[in-house]
Amino acid sequence: MESRWSDDDARGLDPVGLRVYTSRLIGAEPALVLHGGGNTSVKLDDHDHRGRPCRALAIKGSGSDLRTIEPSDFARLHLDDLEALRPRSEMSDDEMLAYLARSSLDPDAPRPSIETLLHAFLPDAWVDHSHADAVLALTNQADGQRLVREVYGDRVAVVPYILPGFKLAQLTADVYDASPGVEGLVLDMHGLVTFGATARESYERHIELVSLAEDYVRPQLPAHGSASGNEATAAELAPVLRGALSTSRRVIVRYDGSPRVRAFVDRPDLEQISQQGPVTPDHVLRTKRLPLVLRATDPEGVRDAVAAYRAAYERYAREHGGADAFQHDSGPRVVLAPGIGMFTTGASWDEAGMVADMYRHSMDVIEAATAIGAYRALPAGDLYDMEYWPLELYKLTRAPPERELARRVALVTGAGRGIGRAIAQALASDGAYVFVTDVDRDAATAVSQAITANGDRAQALALDVTSERQTAEAFEAVARQVGGVDIVVSNAGIAAAAPLDDLELDTWQRSLDVNATGHFLVCRAALRQMRSQGLGGSIALICTKNALDPGAGFGAYSAAKAAQLQLGRVLAVEGGADGIRVNMVNPDAVFEGSGLWDADLRAGRAAAHGVAVDDLESFYAQRNLLGRRVTGPDVAEAVSFLASDRSAKTTGAVIPVDGGLRGAFPR
Ligand code: ZN
Repeated sequence: MESRWSDDDARGLDPVGLRVYTSRLIGAEPALVLHGGGNTSVKLDDHDHRGRPCRALAIKGSGSDLRTIEPSDFARLHLDDLEALRPRSEMSDDEMLAYLARSSLDPDAPRPSIETLLHAFLPDAWVDHSHADAVLALTNQADGQRLVREVYGDRVAVVPYILPGFKLAQLTADVYDASPGVEGLVLDMHGLVTFGATARESYERHIELVSLAEDYVRPQLPAHGSASGNEATAAELAPVLRGALSTSRRVIVRYDGSPRVRAFVDRPDLEQISQQGPVTPDHVLRTKRLPLVLRATDPEGVRDAVAAYRAAYERYAREHGGADAFQHDSGPRVVLAPGIGMFTTGASWDEAGMVADMYRHSMDVIEAATAIGAYRALPAGDLYDMEYWPLELYKLTRAPPERELARRVALVTGAGRGIGRAIAQALASDGAYVFVTDVDRDAATAVSQAITANGDRAQALALDVTSERQTAEAFEAVARQVGGVDIVVSNAGIAAAAPLDDLELDTWQRSLDVNATGHFLVCRAALRQMRSQGLGGSIALICTKNALDPGAGFGAYSAAKAAQLQLGRVLAVEGGADGIRVNMVNPDAVFEGSGLWDADLRAGRAAAHGVAVDDLESFYAQRNLLGRRVTGPDVAEAVSFLASDRSAKTTGAVIPVDGGLRGAFPR
């Protein structure tokens, strides 16, 4: 690992600016810290709210990420208050947090890190702490202490493992005092702390000490093969797995079949090395203590393996927490499937991704530790204490409530514009992870980017619904990316206006292909995937008022859409037993942003109704009972209801969103 220090970048920065600068340098190395791990501090001359000078500790606030940290992410505390705690004999986490809150120089600052006192009790101005992979490869060994000495000699001292908090801070300071001249402290099974008189000194010591460990480990690492994932099997397995993992609450399941992952899951000693425990205790909060090694690929075998994992997890939680203690969901967060790859789970796409990042680094550490000795993790009891740390449980109770469609996956066809776009946006803002599909990939990409820019989650897929192959591939991609689908909105459609005696066979056939067969292909794939998950589901077909109330000159469209409506009703009949609800929405004359209403269609419909083309939109608005124009968001509102559990008892229904048209009343 190379130092990223640059005199040019550091020049002219004040202490907090420098603290941000080298914190980001550390955050830029995933092999040092991941997703909020690690923390940094600086001791400086400051002043309180009355302008009186005082000594302060500026330390990373809890919840921020070193990679992107800002000055406002640091908490500033009275250093004298913190140092006064050092002689105490003990202090509970609650007492410590209350004390830290009272020592704050800024009531609006984020809550300081749980490792604040560890930083405060060290005398050096600058302190950097990471969970470096290479250092963990040394410490997570039966004879870790000997390896640390072999690599570092007297340059570091080792602090024995205890849970973060007051006692660890005190112990770390005691080891520091007893080891004059050390450049860093290795926290056993946890990470590395360095310190210095300047930002650069502490940072560069950190990089150098990690590099020494890397240099020791690297020559002993096994070479990785180039085998990558078994995509087809992964796509079949993922929905079954998602179903088995979603028995209490739904999860998102992400797949990684990269050569790096395959090299790990295909190892003959996988059962041994993966079942020791996590590489650093704070990973247990996201990855759980142990991954599930899954050798079965048949649905029954997968469900049995998950059930056995759950039983073992519940035993572990009872053994260490007692029969009545709170338990997290008992399912695995990491599933290692030899020959296939890794699946990770979470409440959201982002969370499942963080779990994957953490476990990929765990693979590096476990592999390195195994190469230089025998990988060892903390005993189950210590890990239980971390997993059920009251401070972490408290965070759960403070988490904001989830949105209505959180943990759900939606796929919308024809979502590049018009009604489909409005539906994709509505489902994403209700919290669903949305696949924006369209025959026009660029249009789908623009919509998914707009959704992501809004802070919601979506991705684009090119999909021509008339292609059986593309439809199958789209659902396979969904399975690999998120584990399966809960909501499918079959919306893609085309329109062509011509009286029957003028209608070309090609036009008729094309309308049937898109407006009838396309819905069949999408709904069939949805039905299959929803059935293999076993979690029910909601399918909405965007039909048209024409399916019930046809107009002259619109035969190819109306006939195909009538087939679509009837398809939806049969789907409702067949899907009911599996909890798969199927409903239809009948809009009328949605012009805004529509790809359907091109110049030809406008001219054709204007002629059929005997009005001028320019008057067509107001003609449609005026002919309905409410005299209102119908928009994409109006249709999306109905879909949002049908997608959610608010309509849990509704299937086979037709909901008009047409301003009220007597001839199109469903019957
Ligand atoms: Zn730490």
